Amino acid sequence: MAGGVHGRPRRNAVSVILVMMGAPGAGKGTQAGLLSHRYGWPKISTGDILREMSKAETPVGRDLRRVQASGQLVSDEILAEIVKERTSREDCRDGYILDGFPRTVTQAELLLELSRQQGRGVIVVNFAIRPERLIERLSRRLSCPGCGEVYSLTVRAPRQPDRCDRCGSELTHRADDEPEAIARRLEVYQAQTEPLIGYFRDRKLLLEMQGEQPVNSLFEELVRNIESRVGRAGEISA
Ligand code: AMP
Repeated sequence: MAGGVHGRPRRNAVSVILVMMGAPGAGKGTQAGLLSHRYGWPKISTGDILREMSKAETPVGRDLRRVQASGQLVSDEILAEIVKERTSREDCRDGYILDGFPRTVTQAELLLELSRQQGRGVIVVNFAIRPERLIERLSRRLSCPGCGEVYSLTVRAPRQPDRCDRCGSELTHRADDEPEAIARRLEVYQAQTEPLIGYFRDRKLLLEMQGEQPVNSLFEELVRNIESRVGRAGEISA
């Protein structure tokens, strides 16, 4: 859509940065994709960008492959470069959706700095979900290497087995969705990313969602909450 969340052109309105937060498997990517279709804002998945960068047969590519496969975090410096460059592109003018960033306090500070520089409001959505559900979801997840779409063999199966509904690419099971890497990613999430829930709550930027509901009802509730936060002038209210 060319307009903002209320369907009006946003040229003079304050544009929005939507941040999807939650443990791996909480449903961030799925909801980010749905919101992106709804509002026409690009979904920026730092995991997808890093997976693409890691394909290069260079020392940086090899290093990224190793870090991602182990479930550890890539350095804040690399993330800062990626996010600054990607969010300065023309398609981000009316707003954008961050999926998987920020994951550390340093990255959260960078996000708030960027929002000031870009003159944009921030809404951080946190998807709460029990750890046992995460492991189940991640081990049944299929991802599209072509367009980043995410499927679940149980709740959101592709129409044709192993093929992306959107772009037709062959779906893959991510190397870091194996049990050992899942355990490491959940540990890293609890140690480094979970503290950001309090960080954004204190700044009155947090929208807390129950992530265990069906995809569609979660999406509808999310849209209602986002739209009630974006005031008539496009200002974000807490
Ligand atoms: P994701 O697809 O969001 O689960 O990310 C996959 C992997 O990419 C993570 O386990 C990290 O190794 C890396 N990654 C993605 N986003 C970030 C980030 N914001 N900071 C550090 N590492 C990241």
